[in-house]
Amino acid sequence: MSDCIFCRIVAGEIPANEVARTKDAVAFRDLNPQAPTHVLVVPVAHLSNAAATDSDEGERVVGRAVRLAVQVAAQLGIAESGYRLVMNTGADGGQSVGHLHVHLLGGRKMTWPPG
Ligand code: AMP
Repeated sequence: MSDCIFCRIVAGEIPANEVARTKDAVAFRDLNPQAPTHVLVVPVAHLSNAAATDSDEGERVVGRAVRLAVQVAAQLGIAESGYRLVMNTGADGGQSVGHLHVHLLGGRKMTWPPG
């Protein structure tokens, strides 16, 4: 989608601080980090959010994004200390970009409940 900022990052039309890329997903640093490590893992396929993944293909898209997030956590040295994976979904979920993405947050102790 030409008007989707994450599609444009995936396509290389908008610069991003990329940390990993597979044929299925791209991982890049969040512009407004909420933790010492804050990476977004964005599937190449444009799906609006987790609610749009209730299909075999959706399952593959999410699974591959989570898999890349796990690999990036190891690459960035937070696998041992732990981290949080978040998929904000819809208005009450706090989603601001309408292209499915997984937040990888780490490098500090997370609190619960989330805000
Ligand atoms: P969400 O609020 O869950 O939809 O997350 C969207 C995230 O995208 C926010 O944490 C933003 O800081 C981040 N973001 C928006 N535009 C960019 C960009 N061009 N590069 C990197 N991160 C971005």
